[in-house]
Amino acid sequence: MLRKRREPDLETEASATEVATAIDDFTDNAVAALAADHLSRLVRIATVSPEGRGDLTEAEREVFGQLSKALEELYPRTFATAERDTVGRAGILLRLAGASAERPVVMMAHQDVVPVPQDWAAEGWEHPPFDGVISKGRVHGRGTLDDKGALVCLLDAVESLLAEGWTPARDLYLLFGADEESHGDSAIAATALLESRGVEPWLVLDEGGAVATGAFPGLAKEMAVIGAAEKGLVTVVLTVQGGGGHASTPPRRSAPGILAQALVAIEKHPFPAHLHDISVEMFEGVAPHLRGPLKTILSRAESMRGALARMLPRLGAEMSAMVRTTAAITQLSGSAARNVLATSASATINMRIAVGTTTEEAIAHLRKTIGDKRVTMTVVEADEPSRVSPTGDDERFAAIAAAVAASYPDAVTVPYVMMAASDGRHLARISPAVYRFSPLRMDKAQREAVHGPNENVEVSALGTGVEFYRELLTGAALGPAAS
Ligand SMILES: [Zn+2]
Repeated sequence: MLRKRREPDLETEASATEVATAIDDFTDNAVAALAADHLSRLVRIATVSPEGRGDLTEAEREVFGQLSKALEELYPRTFATAERDTVGRAGILLRLAGASAERPVVMMAHQDVVPVPQDWAAEGWEHPPFDGVISKGRVHGRGTLDDKGALVCLLDAVESLLAEGWTPARDLYLLFGADEESHGDSAIAATALLESRGVEPWLVLDEGGAVATGAFPGLAKEMAVIGAAEKGLVTVVLTVQGGGGHASTPPRRSAPGILAQALVAIEKHPFPAHLHDISVEMFEGVAPHLRGPLKTILSRAESMRGALARMLPRLGAEMSAMVRTTAAITQLSGSAARNVLATSASATINMRIAVGTTTEEAIAHLRKTIGDKRVTMTVVEADEPSRVSPTGDDERFAAIAAAVAASYPDAVTVPYVMMAASDGRHLARISPAVYRFSPLRMDKAQREAVHGPNENVEVSALGTGVEFYRELLTGAALGPAAS
């Protein structure tokens, strides 16, 4: 159930301020309630990211078709106004013609979600992941944060602006990928299509950072982190061949044993730590809102890069990932039977490559760390870290920061290097300014629920998210005055 709306009671002798506040609350809640209802509906369409890269299966086609239909029903003005292209297999690219074709803007969110285990209840889900339950001021379910929440906020903003007679000052593209969680083929196709039409986006905004609470040690305020770059990605499979045979007569060195040694070496020898310029800007932006020694240190982040790079990994996994390439051991396999020796053992290593380094360097480092010829390495995928979008007082970064200030007035806005990968990286090929930010409030538990159990978003954050996109779309930088 939604929180009950407080409607203005004009019968009583409330003061003018009280009435105004009540109306404000009512307006906010109505926007938030509408967004929550839309989101709940979209969560119920289980658009699990397609696994392969070939044609969609019939079931996949059906479910993405349902989502497309739901979007057309929920946002009739947007779909009636826009020119539409299908990009990739089920990606949606909409173009709302602006008064000027100069400085086109691309706003993104993705339709697909990561799967949930068959036995989701055992994984700890409080509500069924695809029921879109609204309870205690939150919408629950897979995709509420990643990324249908932002999809709804963006479309609610555009739809409501169109209803008010607004037209964008410049061409506005809305891009909704259908396979961000697998290979990003729709974003790749959209990039190629835009390129073929000579479109060079002046600004791209995709998912990534959020309005985080409890994300920074000692920072009481909310922190709006805007991704100005994203790490690269390398997945390798390590394999060791074994002799097989019966488990009653094991060799001294088994394939899984040799592999295990390599895995221990990887965890024992993390990649070198280095503080990127964007992280320096982030720390110096946060410093004024801190107290004590941390304030002093971080306000001089530029001159203390080395010390910070060594210190930060001790503050937890998030901080550690900020300063280095990471290597996560994700999948393991050995013998298929419990009494048969493995003929081969393998492990998947998922690496996130620090901005300013290359995938080649990372692979070389891994090879050196393992230092064992019996362990073979197959690179499954490799994506370089993105280029770095301008921050500081750049007009585009400032426009996003201004929209944050209007919607989340207490938040400290800083740039950061995004750890995960987004569809936005594909657009970086044709745009110099790609930012990664979803205007949703997320505490630590919510951030951990992305790709995990109990993903949920606050209803009120959805209302604020709509406000963010409305501010950005109608703000000075994107308005006619700037072109
Ligand atoms: Zn996502």
